[in-house]
Amino acid sequence: MPANSRPAPSPNFNARPAGVAIDILLLHYTGMLSAKDALDRLRDSQAKVSAHYMVDEDGTTFALVAEADRAWHAGVSHWAGEDDVNSRSIGIEIVNPGHDLGYRDFPEPQMGAVIDLCRDLLSRHPIPAHRVLGHSDVAPTRKQDPGERFDWPRLAAARIGLYPPDDLAAFAPPTAEALRRDLARFGYGFDDDPTGEAALAAFRRHFRPDHLSGPADGIDAARLAWLLGAAAAG
Ligand SMILES: [Zn+2]
Repeated sequence: MPANSRPAPSPNFNARPAGVAIDILLLHYTGMLSAKDALDRLRDSQAKVSAHYMVDEDGTTFALVAEADRAWHAGVSHWAGEDDVNSRSIGIEIVNPGHDLGYRDFPEPQMGAVIDLCRDLLSRHPIPAHRVLGHSDVAPTRKQDPGERFDWPRLAAARIGLYPPDDLAAFAPPTAEALRRDLARFGYGFDDDPTGEAALAAFRRHFRPDHLSGPADGIDAARLAWLLGAAAAG
């Protein structure tokens, strides 16, 4: 637990299975009206949800579940062939009402605290940059968090996760098959998303937040190719 975090233990966890590496960092928004509501829910044994940490809008960081334990934040999810994301991830809930209750920008003290927390976690767990993800990445048909207002480029500039450069030359517009193949290669799942529409939307929320709708184009293809290259380079 990072030195400046405040203990707020949650009963909602179990043991991680033996021999499974912690190799995903998963970011969420709380999607509730207040931080108190969210913290109460994440600590309510009836709710059966939790995360390892919650970061309030003023930057206060609460520690709910020990990193060694399996918190319950990902739900039905999939990444790179794995369906049990909770077993291999650390989950951070970031206070924000979310798309249904008044989605707003993440304030500066909160972003600073998220970055400090992520850096601390990455210093202690060998999580590859291409596996620093949003909940929507691993559950595209169900989830939109942390969403397009979250400053992924700023995290990448702090060496947390990947973000493609703005000035990549566009590729030719991809075929549906090529796009789907490359999204799958990066990690997106398609079990309940046969058209791939939800995966493309999740990809854009994370890696192209100024262009959330419209058909797949050459900028999507260029960004995805850059990400695949960066992931392969480790
Ligand atoms: Zn979430």
